[in-house]
Order: sequence, then C-alpha cells, then structure tokens
Amino acid sequence: MMLLKKSKGLKSRLIELTKFDIKDIEGPSSEDAKRIIPKVFKTVRKAISTYKKEIKDIPESVQSAPQEFWDDVIVQAKKLGIDLVGFAPIDEEFMFENDYVGGIEVLYENAIVLGMEMDYKAIDTAPEPPAGIESLNIYAELGEATNKLTDFIRSKGYRAIGCHPLGGPILYPAMAVKAKLGEIGKQGLLITKKFGPRQRLSLIAINATPLPEVAQKTVDIEQYCKKCKRCVNMCPANAIYDEPIYKDNGTVTRIDGEKCIKYFYETTGCSVCIKECPFHKIGYKAMYYSRL
Ligand code: SF4
Ligand code: SF4
Repeated sequence: MMLLKKSKGLKSRLIELTKFDIKDIEGPSSEDAKRIIPKVFKTVRKAISTYKKEIKDIPESVQSAPQEFWDDVIVQAKKLGIDLVGFAPIDEEFMFENDYVGGIEVLYENAIVLGMEMDYKAIDTAPEPPAGIESLNIYAELGEATNKLTDFIRSKGYRAIGCHPLGGPILYPAMAVKAKLGEIGKQGLLITKKFGPRQRLSLIAINATPLPEVAQKTVDIEQYCKKCKRCVNMCPANAIYDEPIYKDNGTVTRIDGEKCIKYFYETTGCSVCIKECPFHKIGYKAMYYSRL
C-alpha cells in the first residue's frame, strides 16, 4: 500500500494576505486587524515548521488506533474550541498541486476534518470590515487549535500533519462532505446543520487506522439551493454560477474564482454569500420546517 498521499494535479488559488487592504480600515476593526493578522502568520509558521519536522522521517506502515484514542481526540478538539469534528480517508483527487501557504506536498492515509464557527453578528456586517476580520480571526483561532491538536496526537505516539485553515493542501469542503459534516451549497461553501455556511475548516492528516464510526446527521442542501439562488443574486462580484461546472475528476466549480478573489481582497474577506444564505440567517431547522 502506498503510504503517502499525493496530489493528482488539482490546481489551487494563491492567497496573499498582503493583498488585504487594511490601511483604509478605521476604528476598532483596524485594531482587530493589527492584532489578528500577525497571529494568522504565526500559526501558519508553526504549521510549516511542524510539517518539515514530520516528513524528515517517514513512517513505514500505518499505525493501528483503538476507539479510545479517537474519543480522546474528539474530547481534546472540543476543549480547544473546535466545533466540528469528522473523519474520512484522504482523497488524492481533492489534493492540490500546490499548497501556496503551508508548502505541504504529502499527507497521511486518513483525515480528521475540523470546523470552527464564525461570529453571527460579525458575519451579518458583510461586506464591511468586521465580517472579513472575523474570517481572519477564525483562520488564526482554528489555525492555533489545529496546531495544538496535531501536537496532542503526536504526543500520543501517532504521526500527524496539521493543515492550516488558510490555504491548505486539500479541498477542505469536499473532505468535510466525505466526513459527513454537511453538504456544499451553491456558493461552494460547506453548509452544516449547526452553522449553515458560517464556519472555517482545517484538517489533520493522520497515519492511523481504522477511523472511528461517528454518527452524523445527514443534511439535504441541494433541494433548497435549487429554489433559493439568493447567493447567486446577491454576490456583489457576480461570481457565483447559476449552474455548477462538473469535471471528470469529480471536482465541481461553483464560482468564478478570479471575480471573487478581486472583491474578496478589496473588502478584506467579503463574506456576503455567507451572510445572505438562509442557512446562516434563520438556520437549518427553520429552513426545514418552512419547506413543509
Ligand atoms: S443562499 Fe440559497 S442558493 Fe445560496 S447556498 Fe444558501 S441556500 Fe443555497
Ligand atoms: S465571497 Fe463575496 S465575491 Fe466571493 S462569491 Fe461570495 S459573495 Fe461573491
């Protein structure tokens, strides 16, 4: 069995934090940005240095892990403020050719997919700075928690590669669907029962098997998106496709990345397609019952 997982050529987008236009932000958001952006960089640097140490000595076989170990991981994740935890095998089709932020080129057999909620009120200000700043804040907070959980797993004797929420070597939303955390909405974001599209994702690749069986409640998003299309109509950059583009390798393109990223940089993180989604505004339960 091939121990390490490698990309099959999926292209990724370069994210440059220096392109965020924070000099024009005024008031408390400016102070928040000055505090948060260095923390994003710090957590990225920590993830990079841990990865470099990790791949100096590649393990020769996949380690066996009992259910108690996975239970400990879930408990530790919650202690670190991580809201969502799921498990799935790494799918090489979802791995990017380049991880521009973290420089990760290989992953282990299995994945722990992680999610952290973004603040409801901050997201409701989109596309004003507090929403984008909250995205950066969760990149920093989830980045730190992912690093700490990776350290915890390594301290238990298992080999692990922590992947920062900013950038990353693999398509996180697709992996989150594999881990049964939710489904993808028309705007290309993971939609979960708990938070709608209001979370950021990260992942830890782990050299351990078998993965635990965790009961996750299923979510049926597509039927709502077909009728709704609110994000398509409200996107200020007109970047969300009415009909997604399906590719042979199983990936799906839902937004025009060029159009989105330009507006994303200008507004320090946009987030309008999170704010406008009814799964954020009124939540899954209300959506479900309004359908009846
Ligand atoms: S805004 Fe509507 S169409 Fe867009 S993801 Fe949310 S439910 Fe789907
Ligand atoms: S982040 Fe903003 S620009 Fe990008 S797709 Fe969402 S609404 Fe459109």
